[in-house]
Order: sequence, then structure tokens, then C-alpha cells
Amino acid sequence: MKKLMFVLAAVALGVMMGCGGSSTEAPVVVEEVVEVAPAVEEVVVVRNDVIFTCGCGPDCDCGAASLTAGTCDCGSELVAGHLVKVEGNEALVCACEEGCTCEIDAEDETKCGCGKDVKRVSLEGKGLYYCNCGGSCTCNHVSAEPGKCGCGMDLVTS
Ligand SMILES: [Zn+2]
Ligand SMILES: [Zn+2]
Ligand SMILES: [Zn+2]
Repeated sequence: MKKLMFVLAAVALGVMMGCGGSSTEAPVVVEEVVEVAPAVEEVVVVRNDVIFTCGCGPDCDCGAASLTAGTCDCGSELVAGHLVKVEGNEALVCACEEGCTCEIDAEDETKCGCGKDVKRVSLEGKGLYYCNCGGSCTCNHVSAEPGKCGCGMDLVTS
């Protein structure tokens, strides 16, 4: 009987020892590296110099001028161009391909930087607002609504 008690005690001791081995693992610290990707700047180029004029050529005297594509009264398509200068209420337009940002030829004001003929279109009565700083302006800012040009002048209409 006494021997049995000893065995039971030994078993109990063994169980206790066995249970004592639980190891406490250090919590794994996962460092979250949040990569801040540089914001992709979408450069939306807002142009204020694009103007549509009648496509019947540099000698066209339809005088159509619009900020949107369409058809001229003469039946020709309006073609996109861009202002290179405003003299009085006349727009000097370079009718080169879309996206062109050439400037007026400083030596020969009948040509634009890409060598094309500059077309003169009166802005009178077109309902457009444009910058005409100093009467001879190369801000090349035209708009459908009144506002201010980048040079600080109020857009005018005629
Ligand atoms: Zn026309
Ligand atoms: Zn051009
Ligand atoms: Zn201006």
C-alpha cells in the first residue's frame, strides 16, 4: 500500500513537471512598412489658347471663331488652332496640328513658329472673352466666360 502511494505521488509529480514547460514565446512584432508611393501627378494641361476657325485656308474670310469644334456657316469644318497673338480685337491664329504650342515668329508676324501662315480672325461679335493687354497681347488667353488672364488683366469681349 505504501509503495502504491509512492508511485501515485511520482506520477503526479511527473505530470506537474511536464506541464511546467510551457514556454512563453516573445510576440512576433511585424513591422509594417507602409510604403508611401509618390503620388502620380497627373499633369492636365489646361490650355486657354485653343480656338477653332474655319478650315477653308489662311485666306478664308468667313471669320468663324469658336472654342468648340463644329461646322462653319460656309460648310467647312472648323479646325483647331491656337492663338499666337491678339491685336486689338483680332486674333492671330496658328492652325497647326492639335497640341502645337508654337509662338508667333518674332521676325515675321505672318508666320508662326512652325512656319505656317498665321490667320487673322476678328473676335468681334463672337461672344468670346480674351486677354488684350496693351492692345497687342501674347497671353493667348481666350475663354467662353469672363474672367482673368494669367497676367492679371480682365478678359475683354468685343
Ligand atoms: Zn468658312
Ligand atoms: Zn502652332
Ligand atoms: Zn493676359
